[in-house]
Amino acid sequence: MYPLRRRPALALRRGGRWSSLLVAGLLLLVLSLVWFHLSCSAERDEPSGPCSAQPPGASEQLSWAPHRLAVLVPYRQRFEELLAFVPHLHGFLGRQKVRHRILILNQVDRLRFNRASLINAGFKESGNDTDYVVMHDVDLLPLNQDLDYGYPASGPYHVASPELHPLYHYKTYVGGILLLTKRHYEMCNGMSNRFWGWGREDDEFYRRIKGAGLQLHRPSGISTGYKTFRHLHDPAWRKRDQKRSAAQKQEQFKVDQAGGLNNVKYSIQSRTDVTIAGAPCTVLNIMLECDESQTPWCVLS
Ligand code: UDP
Ligand code: MN
Repeated sequence: MYPLRRRPALALRRGGRWSSLLVAGLLLLVLSLVWFHLSCSAERDEPSGPCSAQPPGASEQLSWAPHRLAVLVPYRQRFEELLAFVPHLHGFLGRQKVRHRILILNQVDRLRFNRASLINAGFKESGNDTDYVVMHDVDLLPLNQDLDYGYPASGPYHVASPELHPLYHYKTYVGGILLLTKRHYEMCNGMSNRFWGWGREDDEFYRRIKGAGLQLHRPSGISTGYKTFRHLHDPAWRKRDQKRSAAQKQEQFKVDQAGGLNNVKYSIQSRTDVTIAGAPCTVLNIMLECDESQTPWCVLS
C-alpha cells in the first residue's frame, strides 16, 4: 500500500512543477513582447535595426518627409573621420525624420583627389528613389539639431554657411555642406571636372548657381555660431594637396562653361553596403578618368 499512497503525491508534485514552469514561460513571453514594443518605438527616431525592416505604419508614414535625400560624401583615406561621420549623420537625419541614403564616394584611381567629379559621379549613381542631394564633407559634423536638411524647394541651401563654418567666412563660400534638389543640380550642369587637388571647385560652383539664376539660401536664427559644427580637420595629420602647376594657376579662377555633369568620366569598381556602428551606408569605389590633354595637372609631376 505504501507505494500506492506515494504515487498520487508524486504526481501532484510533478503537476505543480509543470504549472509553475508554464507560468514562468508565459511571464517571459509577455516581458519579451513588452521589450520588443518599447525598442521599436525608440527606434522610430533612428531607423535602423530589426524594426526598420518592417514597413512603417500609417501614422509613421505621415511624420516622415515625403522626399528622400542622397548624402554624397567625397572620400579618400579619411577612415577615422568616416567612422565618426556615418553614425552621427544617420542619427541626426533620423531625428529630423529625413529619409536618406548615405553614399561614400571613394576615389580609388591613382589621380589627384577630385571632389567635384566624385560628387557628379555620386549624383548619377544616387538612384531614382532620391529626389534631392547634399554634398557633404566627411569631416564636418552638424551639432545643432535646428539645421534643416529638408527638401530645398526654393533653391540651393548652404548648411555650412560662412557665419557658422568654423574656418571659412567669405560671403561666396558654398563648400562643406550644400543641399540641392536634383533638378537644380542639373540646371547647374553639376560641378566642373577640371579641379584636381585641393580647393576652388566650390567657388566655381557658386558662379554656376548664379549663372543658372538660382537663389541661394542659408540658415537663420542659429544661435551656436562657430560651434555649430565639429570639424575633424587636422592639417598636420591630413596634408592637403595644394600644389598648383603654372597651367592650373591660370585656370583656377575661370568658369568652366562646357563641362560638368554632362562630361564626367568614371567607372564604378564596386558597390558595397556596410553598417558602421549600426548606421547603414553604401561605399562606391569610383575610378575617375582624366583627359591629360585637357587637364594635365590631374597627375602630380
Ligand atoms: N577629402 C577626402 N580625402 C582627401 C581630401 C578630401 O576624403 O584626401 C574629402 C573629405 O570629405 C573632406 C572634403 O573632401 O572633408 C574636403 O576636404 P578638406 O577637408 O581637406 O577641405 P576643406 O575643409 O579645407 O574644404
Ligand atoms: Mn575639412
